[in-house]
Amino acid sequence: MDIQKLIRKDLRSLVPYEPHPYSNVIKLDANENPHSFPAELIEKLFSGIDGEMFNRYPDPLGEELIKKIALISGFEPENIILGNGSDELIQLLLQTFGGPGRKAVIPVPTFSMYKIHSQITGTGYIEVPRDASFGIDSEVLLKELADPDATVTFIASPNNPTGNAAPESLIESIVQNAQGLIVIDEAYIDFGGRTCVNLIDKYPNVIIMRTFSKIGLAGLRVGYLIASNQIINELLKVKQPYNVNSFSQFAASMVLDNWPLFKKQIDDIVSERNRLSNEMSGMPGITVHPSEANFILFSAQKRAEDVHRGLLEGGVLVRKNLGNTHGLSECLRVTVGTREENNVFLEKLRSIVNSQ
Ligand SMILES: *Cc1c(COP(=O)(O)O)cnc(C)c1O
Repeated sequence: MDIQKLIRKDLRSLVPYEPHPYSNVIKLDANENPHSFPAELIEKLFSGIDGEMFNRYPDPLGEELIKKIALISGFEPENIILGNGSDELIQLLLQTFGGPGRKAVIPVPTFSMYKIHSQITGTGYIEVPRDASFGIDSEVLLKELADPDATVTFIASPNNPTGNAAPESLIESIVQNAQGLIVIDEAYIDFGGRTCVNLIDKYPNVIIMRTFSKIGLAGLRVGYLIASNQIINELLKVKQPYNVNSFSQFAASMVLDNWPLFKKQIDDIVSERNRLSNEMSGMPGITVHPSEANFILFSAQKRAEDVHRGLLEGGVLVRKNLGNTHGLSECLRVTVGTREENNVFLEKLRSIVNSQ
């Protein structure tokens, strides 16, 4: 039997997501929070577990958590939907508003999952190049958005892997002139950039997407959307009923209940980012792109491949293969680690750029 013949034709060229191939390295490749979950909260978390969390299905809406998100965002629970990470929400948005005959619009370079979920859901996609400093050219973008089949646009701000945020005025002008939905992915909003959450009340086509992954819960998979109640209701029809497990809902609530502890970690990451950026800028041949996120995009005079390997030999893993077609083939992305981790990275990078 030829399984290749049975698979959907449009999925044949996809490849599985890269597994974690390295152990015993300083992991600066995945934009995770380098600080572990505060020890005092782990205790609280474990003592809050009851047996029912295991034998009963989770709350399909996640009402406890949604109430807390509503409170911090100034919206109503009816304006919020939870996802198994924002990855699931990207797919849910495309299942609901994309699909065959529709198109997603993606300013590139950006997060790779917008394109991958477009392919998986049979949604067409239009990649719109950003300008030389990775800003969005709203004129070029709006030309594509005039296509009535362009139902969903993804704007990451701050953007991954470039690190820059889009000005609110630019996003507003795009939202104002678009027929379709504009999804503003605020995965890194705690590290910089201005939230566009206030646009929701003014424009019915705005969707804000956020995640707990970059601030400390990458392992538990919790993301959410804020949008008009009408949009949320459509998404609820398509959402898997039990997409976020009970433990993850509970842990995410605990993050919001103990925000000052996480804010402290975030402040530390931001100040380390600025220190890294300064130190790297001073190294010969290194180009550092300005970042408002928890990572830094950079290039060296040496090949990215060689810098990546050199760092790995020194025990530090950064991210390569950021996109061959969007001018990033010689760029690397380093996630801000703890002060100690960053010092090792800086030392290894310095010795690589100084050697022949
Ligand atoms: C990491 C990332 C996500 C995915 O977050 P999860 O909630 O872990 O699925 C979404 N958008 C951007 C831009 C990201 O970098």
